[in-house]
Amino acid sequence: MTNTKNFPVGKTDEEWQRDLAPDTYRVLRKHGTERAGTSPLNHEKREGVYHCAGCGKPLYESATKYESASGWPSFYKAMEGAVATSTDRSLMMTRTEVHCADCGGHLGHVFPDGPEPTGLRFCMNGAALKFEPKT
Ligand SMILES: [Zn+2]
Repeated sequence: MTNTKNFPVGKTDEEWQRDLAPDTYRVLRKHGTERAGTSPLNHEKREGVYHCAGCGKPLYESATKYESASGWPSFYKAMEGAVATSTDRSLMMTRTEVHCADCGGHLGHVFPDGPEPTGLRFCMNGAALKFEPKT
């Protein structure tokens, strides 16, 4: 489990549970995964920025979002310094977990099968993101 004390935005588990919607809390703080195809953000096509639903940090620009057909919002690039990764060996697989650099909240995973120019697929839980359209 991610130790939130090592991050700029640190809260206790009780505080996160109080402050977040139940599905968001389950993803960000309990490494949950939302059911594929359930996030309204899958169909979000407007210009804007995707923020961390936990602490509000800007994570992804709409220009880097693409249709991966995975059922989860996917991006080929995170904003500079926005996310960090760690190795996740759960479910008998080795995957690279992506978490928010500021609050440590679990966002999803990154896979090496994305489009150019990065070749990466940041496979995100929509519940971990908050979209703000450009005004
Ligand atoms: Zn965050």
